[in-house]
Amino acid sequence: MTIPSPLTIPFVDLTWQHGPLQEAIQGVMNAVITQGDFVLGQALANFEASFAAACGTRFGVGVGCGTDAIALGLTACGITSGDEVILPANTFIATLIGVLRAGATPVLVDCDRATALMDLAAAEQAITSRTRAIVPVHLYGQMVSPQGLLELADRHQLIIFEDAAQAHLAQRDGYTAGSLGLGAAFSFYPSKNLGALGDGGMFVTPDERVAQTARSLRNYGATSKYYHTEPQGTNSRLDTLQAAVLNVKLPYLNGWNQARYTLAQHYDRRLAPLADHGIFPVRNDAGPGHIYHLYVVRVTSTCPLGRTELQAQLTAAGVQTGIHYPIPCHLQPAFRALGYGPGHFPQAEALSQEILSLPMYPGMTPEQVDYVVDAMVEAVSALRLSSLLQEMRG
Ligand SMILES: *Cc1c(COP(=O)(O)O)cnc(C)c1O
Repeated sequence: MTIPSPLTIPFVDLTWQHGPLQEAIQGVMNAVITQGDFVLGQALANFEASFAAACGTRFGVGVGCGTDAIALGLTACGITSGDEVILPANTFIATLIGVLRAGATPVLVDCDRATALMDLAAAEQAITSRTRAIVPVHLYGQMVSPQGLLELADRHQLIIFEDAAQAHLAQRDGYTAGSLGLGAAFSFYPSKNLGALGDGGMFVTPDERVAQTARSLRNYGATSKYYHTEPQGTNSRLDTLQAAVLNVKLPYLNGWNQARYTLAQHYDRRLAPLADHGIFPVRNDAGPGHIYHLYVVRVTSTCPLGRTELQAQLTAAGVQTGIHYPIPCHLQPAFRALGYGPGHFPQAEALSQEILSLPMYPGMTPEQVDYVVDAMVEAVSALRLSSLLQEMRG
């Protein structure tokens, strides 16, 4: 295949989605400007109701970002200091920051190497008499087993609080992300599957009182004007403008997720031969409910090419990649005081050395997927050839 070079395949491209929607977006933004209800306005109430319904739950509380959705959401669910909260070691740092900001004691656990998802057996072992909640992270857009979570929570009387920041409308075994427990957090950071034009987040819950507490927490802890009942209250509201934009985008979300899934299947098919060279996609146990926020491969020790080198060769070929995430939470300098160190979570640590995220966004074409995979095949076979030549000379 000949593609003009240097061809750049970006890791994420948002212009394809905003181009066709730009006029509609400008229209609703103008309406908000005319109306002037910039904070806690009508478009926000509309979006909260539609998004919660789409997730199969009852109440949505729009907040400033996903991190706040975790922190305020956990507090609204009754999590407080002295409570232990279980979360995976391999997640974006915001999961841990949210748990800490709720005042809880984070208890990290290891993951399954093949799926990169929280290991539920390890989670069960980490339960103590002080454990109040478990925070599964639906990493890369794949839900942690709902059945496994519900049974575990039931056996130990735990609150399930989903970090669904990468899992808007993800499904597994008939369950939708955000509907499993007492609360769930979403992020609308621009590159998430549903993204605002800036920061944004939402806490969702099936419980009316929990929703009311969260509404108060995001609004200085006030239950009515200038009457404050929640000491942990802060100022964190999803802007009416952002909500108006998200209202325009929400009807497209399912289609975008499906486009990602189709591209992922194409990647899977084209990458299958690279299994012989130690390169494997992170396993999908959720079927078509996986929404592929990220498409991640593992470059294992049997690959003749290290991950760093493969990534460099892809960069040279004009393909942008990423690593999500290069350092597990327990090895981050900021959190040394938690008392974890190297060796505590061997699967998460090994995975952080193996993973490579390939370009993935709904506007990507199958030809671009082909180009990425061809570049990977070329990098791996060029190396094999040169080592073969070396052997012959030696
Ligand atoms: C993006 C993300 C968050 C945080 O969301 P922000 O809106 O950036 O605060 C939390 N958890 C996970 C898993 C994320 O990917």
